[in-house]
Amino acid sequence: MSSLVQHKYLPSFRHGLCTKSTQIQRIRVYCSTTTSTTTAVKSKSNVKQLTVEPKLALPSIKVVTAANRPSDSDLSLQSTWTHRAWVAAGCTTLLISLGESINGAIDMHMWVEPILAGLVGYILADLGSGVYHWAIDNYGDGSTPLVGAQIEAFQGHHKWPWTITKRQFANNLHALARVVTFIVLPIDLVFHDPIVQGFVGVCSGCIMFSQQFHAWAHGTKSRLPPLVVALQEGGVLVSRSQHAAHHRPPYNNNYCIVSGVWNEFLDKSKAFEAMEMILYFKLGVRPRSWSEPASEWVEEVEIASQSQAQ
Ligand SMILES: [Zn+2]
Ligand SMILES: [Zn+2]
Repeated sequence: MSSLVQHKYLPSFRHGLCTKSTQIQRIRVYCSTTTSTTTAVKSKSNVKQLTVEPKLALPSIKVVTAANRPSDSDLSLQSTWTHRAWVAAGCTTLLISLGESINGAIDMHMWVEPILAGLVGYILADLGSGVYHWAIDNYGDGSTPLVGAQIEAFQGHHKWPWTITKRQFANNLHALARVVTFIVLPIDLVFHDPIVQGFVGVCSGCIMFSQQFHAWAHGTKSRLPPLVVALQEGGVLVSRSQHAAHHRPPYNNNYCIVSGVWNEFLDKSKAFEAMEMILYFKLGVRPRSWSEPASEWVEEVEIASQSQAQ
């Protein structure tokens, strides 16, 4: 059992940077001798040829060059009219839900329950974002029905995390907006209870906008709107530092991307690891986080510009 978990803690390049001294594995020694005994000066010059050249043995890293790096103007990061239409449909669905909740609350003179229902929706949306993120980070591939594109997108996100900040708004949200439209619209038509609609409106809204919160978690403080920074630092939205930990080894924590309020509990209780074990022993499927994070998980680092600067 323990041998399965051991695979999670393989070294990565990022870790290697912090512990360079432990990475020195090969030492090349150049030795030369001379039979000349003519002058002391000559002997001194030969001493210089005995050199020890430490060589860092770093794990392989994919170098991102201009040729294979997704460019800022990459078409895959741009919004299309289809993306915008789905986001508009998702927002309309949410507004119907919230409108019904407010109307019902006015008619019934009932405010506390719908507000509490909305608060519960906000808290559970964070848990839902974590479970969904864990699932698509660890299982399936591009051919998985319904969520194949999302799985590929999240794998790409682990390789090139910075691209999410370049991704246009509707491009980033359209997949979840489509899910919200299909699930919430029927609920809007069937249920007219202000408490139910308060919960559904806020929960699905937080789920739909979770990708925007995620994008903000990758932003730099100086470039983010001050209100967003304040909400991140107040714990209302997932913080930049908390989400940064998700992109560091062992790549199996901090999955929640709405407020991040569940992350500490889920990680300390090892809830996801327990689910991974259950799925492994019941279905025989291994999560990606058990494997060496050499390909899909490791962030590709752009070093071309660094080497030019040296
Ligand atoms: Zn992830
Ligand atoms: Zn991320």
